Amino acid sequence: MPTPRILSGIKPTGKPHLGNFFGMMQPAIAWQERGEAFYFIADYHALTTVHDPAALREYTRGVALDFLACGLDPARAVLWRQSDVPEVTELTWLLSCVTPMPMLENCHAYKDHVAREKVPSHGLFAYPVLMAADILLFDSNIVPVGRDQKQHVEVTRDIASAFNRLYKSDLFVIPESSILPTVATIPGLDGQKMSKSYGNTIELFDEEKTMRKKIMSIITDSTPVEGPKDPATSSILGLYRLVAEESAILQMEEEFRIGGVGYGDFKKRLFGTLWEYFAPQRARRAELERDPGHIDRVLADGAHRARAVAEKTMARVRAAVGLK
Ligand code: AMP
Repeated sequence: MPTPRILSGIKPTGKPHLGNFFGMMQPAIAWQERGEAFYFIADYHALTTVHDPAALREYTRGVALDFLACGLDPARAVLWRQSDVPEVTELTWLLSCVTPMPMLENCHAYKDHVAREKVPSHGLFAYPVLMAADILLFDSNIVPVGRDQKQHVEVTRDIASAFNRLYKSDLFVIPESSILPTVATIPGLDGQKMSKSYGNTIELFDEEKTMRKKIMSIITDSTPVEGPKDPATSSILGLYRLVAEESAILQMEEEFRIGGVGYGDFKKRLFGTLWEYFAPQRARRAELERDPGHIDRVLADGAHRARAVAEKTMARVRAAVGLK
């Protein structure tokens, strides 16, 4: 079987949080050992919500720093800023022309937005088409994402198939999403999906005091210390399962069931384990911060390598549709 091409992206809309890490960054880092890994910082996508240029630049560098600190290896994976490969916007237009509006009207990110009585921008509405272009531009086979992005990868498959049918060709590779069941949706402080837009995130590299405070603020029910608690629905356990040893998880689950330990104690245990878990990444991050030029070099090299692939795809696509 040929080496798979793996592609994924992360929006620089703030500092990466545990949902980003376990849902996408960690699987992406694991995939870099098994195929040709292409990962980008989705600054065009971030523009649907970030309208402060200084913040966008800062978040973009921050995501690169955090990703490298977590183990992204630029020798194995291509890491670039989405806007450094502007071919993706041209492909977005070509794909838009074969994308039925009802398909986009059915996308949950758009529907959620409307349900919250916000007025969506055209960018937010069309965002799955830009995501399709991200994926198809690089002939990607596998897209490691959290469950929230599964629908958008399916949209990509539909758009690619429609395009291939229309132009009677195999222009685009049909990609597949890869979602690890254990990390499909990481819960936030309030038990909903952890998300910047819900304000319930725990950032990977928060200060110790901040992280402790956030963990202690996880919302629980009002079961008293002595009462049995439900291990299936707890965000404390949901997060603990991601970072603790098997035996420690089993012990916490048992203590939930039999009662006698309060949520405060469970939260302290979660904080301690989480803080330890990210100690090596924190050390690497501190080291990387001492050489700010390193991030620029990684991103410039990534842009160069990504653009070489993008240009080839675009030449093929332009010829197929009759632009050249
Ligand atoms: P975004 O910040 O929306 O660009 O997300 C980057 C990646 O993180 C995507 O693959 C998402 O699916 C993933 N992700 C974000 N939040 C969560 C979450 N709470 N649980 C699992 N994956 C997530």
